[in-house]
Amino acid sequence: MASKFVFQGTRLRLSTDFDGGGLAKVVEAEPDVLDCWPYLEDEYRDGFISLRSLDGAGDRRDGANYSFLFRLDGCRDRKITLRIHVLHERCKADDVSVVYANPDFPVISYDGDSWARTPQKHLLGGDGLADEKIIEVEHTFSQDTVWISYQYPYTNDRLRRVAQRIGSSPFCRVEVAGRSTEGRDIPLISLTDPAVPLRAKQVAWFTGLQHCAELGAGWGFEGMAEFLISDAPLAAEARRKFEFKFIPIVNVDAVAEGRGRIHRSGRNLNREWERPDPVCDIGTIRQTLDAWRAQGHPVSTFVDLHGFSTVDGKWFAPVLPLENFSADQARRYEQLLAAIKRQLPGMQYDPFPSVGLAAGAAVRTYGALGLSIDGWIYKGPAPTAPDLSSYYTSGRQVLPLAEIQAAGARIVQAWVDFAGSQEREL
Ligand SMILES: [Zn+2]
Repeated sequence: MASKFVFQGTRLRLSTDFDGGGLAKVVEAEPDVLDCWPYLEDEYRDGFISLRSLDGAGDRRDGANYSFLFRLDGCRDRKITLRIHVLHERCKADDVSVVYANPDFPVISYDGDSWARTPQKHLLGGDGLADEKIIEVEHTFSQDTVWISYQYPYTNDRLRRVAQRIGSSPFCRVEVAGRSTEGRDIPLISLTDPAVPLRAKQVAWFTGLQHCAELGAGWGFEGMAEFLISDAPLAAEARRKFEFKFIPIVNVDAVAEGRGRIHRSGRNLNREWERPDPVCDIGTIRQTLDAWRAQGHPVSTFVDLHGFSTVDGKWFAPVLPLENFSADQARRYEQLLAAIKRQLPGMQYDPFPSVGLAAGAAVRTYGALGLSIDGWIYKGPAPTAPDLSSYYTSGRQVLPLAEIQAAGARIVQAWVDFAGSQEREL
């Protein structure tokens, strides 16, 4: 599994001992050729990656650790080959394929903060769906230090810096939503116009990164937040009509550790929301929501962000079936979904009861119009092996960062449109 270490090779030094860093194993084949694994061999069984610490009840795929982030020192002006050993996993149950080795992967950075794709790479490996594949990256680096990641990483450090910057806006408040299993604070960022009383507004909650490697949610949050503190007339209207409450990184521990999907305790945080004894992370966030409700404030809408960016602009939203709502709520829910769909036209809505999930708890416990938004991994009919290779080399990509952030602004527009459709009825 992903872990923190420093590897000193003949000329290169590889490290993961920083916020967000993680890799399972590295082997130096030659002084400038490294083989890297995001998981260990014995984590891979029967076509799946298993996490041994799972408590037995969970989906084995929950443990899949396909993410990595590491730093290389000693790179300047030398051609370096990285062979990243990955899997293509087929989920047999629903015949849906999840391509972890998406064609954006990996990405590189010279400052650990701004990221670019790596063009000089190709896919090696077997033909079978469960066969190991190797992404071979050859690159001559212009700087001595370079960061390599599975996807554009969104770390606790980045969120801290963003919160500091936007926290100076008169429209922003930075607080704590909860405490993690390992004792970290879980940030809560509120954005609104404080001159308008709360009773005159709706309250829109957003959570993100319950699944730690679904990184688009962090960048999407930034897009929403940057737009909301901007001078745009639409942003001012959004601030007057809503208090936006963001918990951009729920799974702060696993993000710090650079894990793939779930907490190292083996608990999937998005299965804890309707348990009587949730893990500390979700238990303390629920206390925050309970206290908010006890003060008489509403949870008007609640969106749990997972993927947020997706291949070819396709999005999907697990939505609660309408029988979860009163007639009046159901009508407003449909207005909200229509407003989102106008801004994110590729959206596909899948009815899903979301039992135990954040979106389900938001509806059943807090009376919110709740849903999830997902879609950064490629999901579709299981491709045959040749299709996988052509998929990888075809240049299809998940949304670039700037487009993810622009989509954040469009989501704010959707909420303003939703408020407008309610006002027209009055
Ligand atoms: Zn997820």
